[in-house]
Amino acid sequence: MARYRLAFDLHTHTVFSHGKGTIEDNVAVAREKGLKRLGISDHGPGHALYGVRRGRFAEMRAEVDRLNRLYPDIEISLGLEANIASPSGRLDLEGGELAMFDYVMAGYHFGAFGEAPLYAASLAVRNWIGGIAGRWGRKLVAANTDLVEKAIYENRIFALTHPGDKGAVDIEAVARACAARGVLFELNAAHGGLSEGDLALAARCGVRFLIGSDAHSPERVGEFGGAVGLALRAGIDLGRIVNLVEEDTGDGAEGGEGAGKWMS
Ligand SMILES: [Zn+2]
Ligand SMILES: [Zn+2]
Repeated sequence: MARYRLAFDLHTHTVFSHGKGTIEDNVAVAREKGLKRLGISDHGPGHALYGVRRGRFAEMRAEVDRLNRLYPDIEISLGLEANIASPSGRLDLEGGELAMFDYVMAGYHFGAFGEAPLYAASLAVRNWIGGIAGRWGRKLVAANTDLVEKAIYENRIFALTHPGDKGAVDIEAVARACAARGVLFELNAAHGGLSEGDLALAARCGVRFLIGSDAHSPERVGEFGGAVGLALRAGIDLGRIVNLVEEDTGDGAEGGEGAGKWMS
């Protein structure tokens, strides 16, 4: 019997995009749960509905710096969940803005249209319909995969968020690109999109995994949801998950899911 918890959580949202809590609210929960590091990763400005307004980057940076001074027991990092939307691979972040962030993650979302809006919109519609229908055309998967691979190769991305969610990709191709570029492959606590077979395949391609709570409300910060159970069922070496801590308990506590719960 072992107990698992996250050492750090780098995928959390705040009111700067469409999260419910402030940065300080997320910090309070992270400290309560004993996280050593917390990342704030609101949606990139290219998202039509949820993106952070570019003019607020400096305000976020100043708030993270203030909270780091206030709470020396936790490291708070400012990240961004940039949008993968452009055929060239460009993210919705301009060169000079990069310096304001400690790390940049990227993911595919409906609602971000990038440099070729008609193409991105048609892809989003096809992915959305495909999701509803539960089946995916080979061409669509190839187009999604191409978009994601370009973003991985054209940028310095810390982690790829919820791979395969919202738009199905060729997991092997994307995992190989992540492994080649040292991009962490997220196990997202809130979104599915990956099967046990996908995880096992990604691990064989050499990726390392990052569990992200994708918390949109403070109480979800530090939660791993079903991610650990999925990883166990997939039979991947948990040592490949960079932010998972396992503690031996030596007693027969109950199995379950979520941060700090007991897992068999
Ligand atoms: Zn996302
Ligand atoms: Zn997110």
